[in-house]
Amino acid sequence: MEPIVVSACLAGIPCRYDGRAKTSDGAVRLVEEGRAVVVCPEGAGGLPTPRPPAEIVGGDGADVLDGRARVVDATGADCTAEFLAGARAALSAAEEARARRAVLMARSPSCGCGQVYDGTFSGELRPGDGVTAALLRRAGIEVTAG
Ligand code: SF4
Repeated sequence: MEPIVVSACLAGIPCRYDGRAKTSDGAVRLVEEGRAVVVCPEGAGGLPTPRPPAEIVGGDGADVLDGRARVVDATGADCTAEFLAGARAALSAAEEARARRAVLMARSPSCGCGQVYDGTFSGELRPGDGVTAALLRRAGIEVTAG
């Protein structure tokens, strides 16, 4: 069966910034079917759980990949390098499994697809992808929010 990249927090792993999961039945089904390539880019990039929430400042994930935007957490710490490392780890896992699709956590600065928070920590959204979603999309992987 076709492998599909899945955000770990959707698969029930409590790896979100707040130490919780955001379990989705669809993602759990992919795990049960043995099709899920489970990734948590922020963890893979070296960030601890729990951790301060982070947002992309100055653009979206594609802009981070191009060096035009940064990822900053709620304390003001720059965590761009960790987000980039995590995105590369997720892409490596996807390529190793030959996955062509990904089901990712909505609105996350890593995993968000089509919408992310706007960098003001005010709950406002902007169009765009998270850093990992943008990198997977550039590699030709179809990304959707789970
Ligand atoms: Fe990890 Fe992505 Fe879930 Fe954030 S949204 S906890 S990076 S899997």
